[in-house]
Amino acid sequence: MVSLADLTSVTVVVTRNCNLRCRWCFEDSAPGCDRQEPEFPSLVRIFERVAGRGRHITFTGGEPFARADILELLEAARRHVDSVGVTTNGLLVDDDGAAFLARNRIPAAVSLDGPPEVNDYVRGRGNFERTVEAVRRLVAAGVAVNIQTVVSRRSLPFLADMARLAASLGVRLIAFQRLMPFGRGARSAGDLLTTEDARRAAEEYARLVAAHSHGPLRIKTKDPLHYTLLPPRDGAQLAAGAVTGGCRAGLSALFVEGDGTALACPFIRVPAGNLLAQSLEQVWLESRVLRAFRSRSNYVACRDCTHWPRCRGCRAYALEAAGDLMGTDPLCWHSLAGDRRREPA
Ligand code: SF4
Ligand code: SF4
Repeated sequence: MVSLADLTSVTVVVTRNCNLRCRWCFEDSAPGCDRQEPEFPSLVRIFERVAGRGRHITFTGGEPFARADILELLEAARRHVDSVGVTTNGLLVDDDGAAFLARNRIPAAVSLDGPPEVNDYVRGRGNFERTVEAVRRLVAAGVAVNIQTVVSRRSLPFLADMARLAASLGVRLIAFQRLMPFGRGARSAGDLLTTEDARRAAEEYARLVAAHSHGPLRIKTKDPLHYTLLPPRDGAQLAAGAVTGGCRAGLSALFVEGDGTALACPFIRVPAGNLLAQSLEQVWLESRVLRAFRSRSNYVACRDCTHWPRCRGCRAYALEAAGDLMGTDPLCWHSLAGDRRREPA
């Protein structure tokens, strides 16, 4: 039974405007996307609605630092929850911004999608060097920096290199997320992982977790399938069928657009309510789409799988592949359904 206290992570889109025009951006952000910029009071209203103990708000975009009022907004969010973080490309964070983040213990998650040739293919020429420089400045200012790396067919051979780079930059965490076929990413079918690539990515992830288990760098994943190759954190819980990892949609995380639209995750574009019109209780506890994630029997493709408690597959990918939110994650190599995403012919 999921309660309001289970909702620990709320991500809010504070702008769609961005200084970059990345090839795989799921929000389709770019310079000049500020025509429908959410207004300050509307965002504060959203923060008030998600207020609560044990809750974390992450700012995302677009590029949050493209907003002139970003520091005031972060300050406003901090008043309502235990902790706040920001995803950023890092390029617009000036010395005052870095000092503010450090002083208020606000971590910055910075995207770096591979070595220079891969990152710059995705994020624009010269942006690998610029981003690495931005990470160095943030770390030097005392900001807790995470690196976020999208795992595509281009970056798959370089995951260990990215972990080494993260460690050398003094960041505290690197997180991997598979390339998703949404937003502008939908136009890059040839860069999406195949089922076999997904297995290789999970194996590499498990190797990196083991290799860095005693070091200062934490290795993290946003891909449910990666959990299936890790030793169970708690065998008894796993045997009892309690959720111990995997997809957080509908269970502990919520995504909120600037107009208040609530989504189970950024890639599942089925509205679960609106936080400018409804209370958090109404959205979180009563939304039909969110409730669908809370019953094992609904997961037609995964409910009999022993990995269900720590995986459950990517529901967004399942929806995209076959129009069934509870269907097969096409990248699951454990599945016997035979619905596999193969190399493009
Ligand atoms: S069948 Fe579902 S739960 Fe099992 S490994 Fe595959 S995606 Fe994960
Ligand atoms: S549906 Fe996929 S992208 Fe969305 S939260 Fe779950 S694993 Fe992540």
